[in-house]
Amino acid sequence: MAIRNIREIGDEVLTKRCKEVTEMTPRVKELIEDMLETMYEANGVGLAAPQVGVLKRIVVIDTTGEDPHILINPRIVESSGEQTGQEGCLSVPGKSGQVTRPNYVKAVALDVNMKEFELEGTELLARAICHELDHLDGHLYVEKAEGPLQDVRYDEDDSE
Ligand code: ZN
Repeated sequence: MAIRNIREIGDEVLTKRCKEVTEMTPRVKELIEDMLETMYEANGVGLAAPQVGVLKRIVVIDTTGEDPHILINPRIVESSGEQTGQEGCLSVPGKSGQVTRPNYVKAVALDVNMKEFELEGTELLARAICHELDHLDGHLYVEKAEGPLQDVRYDEDDSE
């Protein structure tokens, strides 16, 4: 496993639409392991493949530090409610912004065995799912932020 370089806002790779994963290969497995390691090392709660420069529809999310979710070709099939709160991103270091998201989402994705599963989340997990899936279509939270971004101290950053 290896820590990968996290791409930052301004990098074109973060604006591209990612491609579906069609088969699990050793290379894709290694990418997923590296994404998890990179996310944990950066104290993030989520990371999408384009953030490490790979245009594949893969995200990893762990909002508690002990519950990793790997989502391949994910899509949101249900959402409800609303939450407004501060959001950060490992690709936008030192900043946060207020973003309104659904308070509940249900996603359908493939796991590392390319088997379909559902992931339901509320509050932070729902926010993380929405945030990471946006990355796969080339969108950053800053496009949705209400008002100006705020400076946050790096060690307090709840980045995704
Ligand atoms: Zn992000």
